[in-house]
Amino acid sequence: MRRKLVVGNWKMNGSRVANAELLAALKSASPWDADVAVCAPAPYLGEVALSLQGEFIAWGAQDCSAHESGAFTGEVSAAMLAEFGCKYVIVGHSERRAYHAESDQLVADKAKTALEHRLTPIVCVGETLTEREAGHTDEVVKRQLSAVIHTLGHCIAQVVVAYEPVWAIGTGKTASPEQAQAVHAVLRAQLKAATEHAGDMKILYGGSVKADNAATLFAQADIDGGLIGGASLKASDFDAICRAAH
Ligand code: PEP
Repeated sequence: MRRKLVVGNWKMNGSRVANAELLAALKSASPWDADVAVCAPAPYLGEVALSLQGEFIAWGAQDCSAHESGAFTGEVSAAMLAEFGCKYVIVGHSERRAYHAESDQLVADKAKTALEHRLTPIVCVGETLTEREAGHTDEVVKRQLSAVIHTLGHCIAQVVVAYEPVWAIGTGKTASPEQAQAVHAVLRAQLKAATEHAGDMKILYGGSVKADNAATLFAQADIDGGLIGGASLKASDFDAICRAAH
């Protein structure tokens, strides 16, 4: 039985005061019957680490460089994230793919660099509405995951995969549990062809997960938790989603 994982993606939100209030509320709401983490903007990771040290909640970042170090102005390396105690790093979020033109191979290279620094990459895949309506959903997510499988080899077993249909992110439109499960099953089958550990790997669903739809999504056979954007910014909403994961 896979233990569920719920990860909050704060995106470019928060402030020192707001983060302190959110984390205080989450700490008093914890623990849950699932693993829980928050992925904060990089400048706040030091304070998040101090706040969450020894607590039930892990922390991580929202992106990392594919490079080790050097002349890459504005980028943050996996080694730096590891120094701040990050357990996870999101790579290939659709906002990075869309607004920063991140290719499948760049996402795979980021996942590799993250693993080399003992961070768990949360690799996001997902189709746009146009791709779904054209019947290309499976082809798109398999192509995105395939780049990571080829780059990581047997180490693919160490990543977390997040299926996030682009049309469901921040839009209030959630994939139905059946739609999400169908894609998760495709991804699980692809992982099974790549590693004998696919049955132990976590595949999260993300896209307008809320307190009132989390339980039915998490009840699907291949949905092992959620990557939560908007609803991770309000402690009571995030707490309710974490409670739905068990
Ligand atoms: C996300 O950005 O990863 C996400 C799932 O956002 P939201 O929950 O707001 O749709």
